[in-house]
Amino acid sequence: MSKRVAILTSGGDAPGMNACLRATIIACERAGYTLFGYEHGYNGLLEQEYRQLSLSSTHNLIQQGGTILHSARSKAFKTVEGAKTSADNLVALDIDTLIVIGGDGSFRGADHLSHYWPGQIIGIPGTIDNDIQGTDATIGFYTAVDTAVSSIDKVRDTADAFERIFLVEVMGREAGFLALHAAIASASDYVILPETFHNEESELNNIVQQIENRRALRASISYIIVVAENVWPGGLSALTQSLNNKGIEDIRPVTLGHVQRGGSPTSQDRILATNLGRYAVDLVGTDVTNVMVGERNQRIVEVPLTNTWKGRKPLNNYRLDTMQKVMNERF
Ligand code: ADP
Repeated sequence: MSKRVAILTSGGDAPGMNACLRATIIACERAGYTLFGYEHGYNGLLEQEYRQLSLSSTHNLIQQGGTILHSARSKAFKTVEGAKTSADNLVALDIDTLIVIGGDGSFRGADHLSHYWPGQIIGIPGTIDNDIQGTDATIGFYTAVDTAVSSIDKVRDTADAFERIFLVEVMGREAGFLALHAAIASASDYVILPETFHNEESELNNIVQQIENRRALRASISYIIVVAENVWPGGLSALTQSLNNKGIEDIRPVTLGHVQRGGSPTSQDRILATNLGRYAVDLVGTDVTNVMVGERNQRIVEVPLTNTWKGRKPLNNYRLDTMQKVMNERF
């Protein structure tokens, strides 16, 4: 039976959201469903700001960063009134299924809406943080890792030239996935993560010890420390000061910032986005609802939305161990 589907992108934008939109547009077209795109995340749902999406929107879309529907954060949506208005708008447009591409906040929003709207809700994980339980990766994560790695490679060139110490802050809010993966792939010398951070003094001692070992071996003393944002109290300037106080000079702090959200998605993100978008449309009209579709070991999984933010998604222990072993041996 012909269905009416709506889709939106919400929260922090991530490369690959467009690739996912493209897949849903094509899958809906094939199935004979009508697809509407709400603009600006939940704000568009509240304001009934939407447009019909058709194959003409998909040209050259897979490689574009950002999201053609734009993303946003919406305070008004979080209220009961906001959810009720959104529900009324979905009913007015006669929507059967709402697909939400976003992070854990967006999934909490989708769950909030489900208390007021009886239609089918499907989440697709799109965030550079990779902090969503139940899926190996989120759309945008590996692109952000590559962006951070290519920046760190450039930092290394100048670090080597002057034998300097660089602190590179990467995004990741409460999760160290981006920092850990960027550190491994760029052969950085040290990484500071929310998951492993105990106290400033022990991290400082480890860093100073490593730098002194290097100097004793007369090896190159260019040294790169990847720091996940919001972990070090006082940020990079406080860390620089603390290292100065321990006699480590010539330190350059670099904050990568929003460049990590941009750029054309890597093939890994395009493939994940395409599979998940297509699968979400496969679910339209079934009794599966309030789930996120994700991927584990290259198999599609359905995870109840409420499980996606339960507890902290653990880092892969083996990768963590690899980082620690390999960084300590790099003299
Ligand atoms: P992300 O999806 O990237 O984690 P946010 O945390 O900013 O991004 O969430 C996106 C939007 O989802 C918010 O602006 C808000 O409208 C909605 N949202 C987030 N958390 C909740 C919540 N606990 N209840 C209802 N809506 C929420």
